[in-house]
Amino acid sequence: MTFPPSPRPPVPPSNSQDNFSRKDEITIIGAGIGGLTLASALEKKEIPFQLYEQADSFEALGYGIQVSPNIVRVLWELGLEKELENISHRCLGFELRSFNSDKILAKWQLNNKIPYYQCRRSDLHQLLFDSIQDKNRIHFSQRLESYQQEDDKISLYWQNLQCTTTTALVAADGVRSQVRRSLLDAVADGVKPQNNPEQTQYAGYAAYRAILPFKDKYRSFWGKATVWMGENHHVVVYPNGNQNNSTPWLNLVLVVKDANWNEQGWNIPADKQAVAQEFANQSEELKEILEDMMASPEPCFKWGLFIHQPLPYWSQGKVTLLGDAAHPMLPFQAQGAAMAIEDAYVLAEYLAREKDIEKAFLNYQQTRIKRATKVQQVSRNNADIFHASGVKAMIRNFGLGLISSTFPSLLNQKTAWIYDYDLCVKLNKQ
Ligand SMILES: Cc1cc2nc3c(=O)[nH]c(=O)nc-3n(C[C@H](O)[C@H](O)[C@H](O)COP(=O)(O)OP(=O)(O)OC[C@H]3O[C@@H](n4cnc5c(N)ncnc54)[C@H](O)[C@@H]3O)c2cc1C
Repeated sequence: MTFPPSPRPPVPPSNSQDNFSRKDEITIIGAGIGGLTLASALEKKEIPFQLYEQADSFEALGYGIQVSPNIVRVLWELGLEKELENISHRCLGFELRSFNSDKILAKWQLNNKIPYYQCRRSDLHQLLFDSIQDKNRIHFSQRLESYQQEDDKISLYWQNLQCTTTTALVAADGVRSQVRRSLLDAVADGVKPQNNPEQTQYAGYAAYRAILPFKDKYRSFWGKATVWMGENHHVVVYPNGNQNNSTPWLNLVLVVKDANWNEQGWNIPADKQAVAQEFANQSEELKEILEDMMASPEPCFKWGLFIHQPLPYWSQGKVTLLGDAAHPMLPFQAQGAAMAIEDAYVLAEYLAREKDIEKAFLNYQQTRIKRATKVQQVSRNNADIFHASGVKAMIRNFGLGLISSTFPSLLNQKTAWIYDYDLCVKLNKQ
């Protein structure tokens, strides 16, 4: 299938066959968005890999995900332009409202040349999975328990498999990464960084997620993301799915500051009545959505948001981390999956360019760590902005109103370093 040409110059071919010996094989742990993107990118460069996922199949998490221009570029580069368009709603701008009064605080149009999309996470997952031709390289129901790095190989110890060996290991195994813990323990000089940065901590926020079939009465939400911000609460509503090609949905993310999280597990059903009460505000539209959520057979789930401190390094020898395993972040800039996709693209490129895998891993770390850590920090700062109260909230509201009415392009400039980032140009320059 051919795709419309990307508006940028392509990355020059990297002669991966010359650089990468056929007997070298990259083992990827985790078939989340990061692991799948890496597998897809490696296959395009004819670099052999095996991908292992602990789950028996993909969990069909249908909730929404925002796909910002910085990664739309990457997905186009992987040849997925048309497929992405087919599953996505195009976001043209943002609207920020007060959670307490429902007053519009700011609204602006995006000015990026590359689309900003919103789609269902399960659709994006499926699209990445489908983009991998050789499905024999993907192994479900395989959980890595531990690994041992030796001079010439890495031994992998599995829950249900005999020990296997590999040349190099990429851990895309999410925020609770098993590999991250061992990697930080095994640093070259045996000195672990202070403060145990690898330890996962509850960030103090719970997120509720729901999805509803898109109805005509939600049309004021079409073409944008709407955010209500208030003391200890914020709500994000956006459509996903494509009006022409797939069923559109309305996606709802409701976040509350909550000091305690005692639940175990990932997909914990929420009490919809309690959620509706917690997030009731002055907005008639949000009220209707919450009523629809209560009446809908679609479940509402809750998540505790977990993070760990920025890591000083991601790679040790022929083992490296990718995505949430390396830099989990609060979802308040909608960039966690985006950073995982960027990581994957850069890592595949360096593996194709560089014969020495350790060097490739270090180059990858060097290219990625500063940007991902900065996005991690911005996401954390957004929590304070979204949930501000008292004088801080008054200053925020005044500032937003002023900028949005006089110089709205400033609001785009604030995120230009994230959305306008062109990885392919950056890699070309190196
Ligand atoms: C409420 C919310 C909203 C969000 N919205 C957005 C958004 O709009 N845009 C955005 O870019 N990001 C968003 N994010 C962040 C995004 O979901 C994550 O950053 C992203 O999914 C991370 O991908 P990953 O591949 O690194 O990890 P994961 O998706 O966590 O995948 C890790 C995989 O590894 C597997 N695994 C783990 N351990 C093992 C093991 N030992 N052996 C084998 N397999 C293993 C797991 O089963 C899993 O499949 C949001 C997050 C939340 C919580």
